[in-house]
Amino acid sequence: MWEKCKALQNELVGLRREFHQIPELGDNLPETQARVCAELDKLGIPYKKNTLDSGIIALIEGGQPGKVIALRADMDGLPITEATGLPFASKHEGKMHACGHDTHITMLLGAAKILSENKANLKGTVKLIFQTGEETCTGSKTMLKEGVLENPHVDAVFGMHIGSLIDPTIPAGKVIVTPGCCMASYDHFILRVKGTGCHGSTPEKGVDPIVVASNIVLALEEVIAREVASTKAAVITIGQIHAGFAYNVIPNEVLIEGTTRALEEDVRQYLGKRIGEIAESVAKAYRAECEYTMLWGAAPVVNNAEMAALAAEAAVEVVGADNVITSRPAPNMAGEDFAYYLMERPGAFMFLSSANPAKHTDIPHHNPKFDVDEDVLWNGSAVFVSIVEKYLK
Ligand SMILES: [Zn+2]
Ligand SMILES: [Zn+2]
Repeated sequence: MWEKCKALQNELVGLRREFHQIPELGDNLPETQARVCAELDKLGIPYKKNTLDSGIIALIEGGQPGKVIALRADMDGLPITEATGLPFASKHEGKMHACGHDTHITMLLGAAKILSENKANLKGTVKLIFQTGEETCTGSKTMLKEGVLENPHVDAVFGMHIGSLIDPTIPAGKVIVTPGCCMASYDHFILRVKGTGCHGSTPEKGVDPIVVASNIVLALEEVIAREVASTKAAVITIGQIHAGFAYNVIPNEVLIEGTTRALEEDVRQYLGKRIGEIAESVAKAYRAECEYTMLWGAAPVVNNAEMAALAAEAAVEVVGADNVITSRPAPNMAGEDFAYYLMERPGAFMFLSSANPAKHTDIPHHNPKFDVDEDVLWNGSAVFVSIVEKYLK
């Protein structure tokens, strides 16, 4: 059945270019939702719009009863001004599909078309998940609140990311799917260091939060260096420090913001615990106070070994054994809120490379010049269809 996706290539390119021009942000994607619904209507696939966001859940019921498999595409763009110069560049000022989610929608719709046209031969049901807010780490949690994994009960879930996330030197068309963790957790922490401001000439009359904050920043890196085993990947990055308003005044407060990454849930939890303990006790040692907030993002993305093997086998049929990578280089330290589906159901998240230096599509994700090699679009649809064929067999 997956072979039929080849003939969709031109149509997929057209559809992708349409979505590319209308990027929207976060949970509110009205134009994108309307375009996806129009396509589902055209295909005669029934769907339900979410009540909490612009997500869509569609259902393709096979000719015979069987298991339920879910396929997920994320639909949101980024607050980036596009600089690709492409004739089909974003029409929405300051917004861009700079992570390839426009292709995710397209590839899932391609798979939907073939699966729907051949549903009489399917033994089971395919649920299509069109999710909002991946970049904001809100979409999959909303989908779960909408009951996406029930009615009918989903048995396994699969997702795919296009681009060069894993390694920009892996050529376009290769599929990477590995057992175990393939992407890290990502969380956001905020530290508010509170001292007592005073004249810069008499620091003894106050408590200097800038010096305290400097000590906290250095102490936090000790957690990675001395407390997490060197065989376990973990990152603490401070991306922002804000303080002060004049060169000769000690301010009252310093704001520190950063992110943590980990490949295992217990390491992730440990980082969260230690950042608070260290920041609060370093502040106390220097007579200051520190207020700690952790904004939990996404857990590590952990593939079920059996489902990863099934996805790999399905991909081999489409692109050939030489083009499927089932061991390292994954995992990588970026995050994905697909993690939340995998915490509820077995499944796998895979990567489809679209990095082609000749076409300048090896530029990093979230860059204003990010683009994909469109030649791989039908491959994405075909891999999804092939997975469904294998899983519902
Ligand atoms: Zn992204
Ligand atoms: Zn993405």
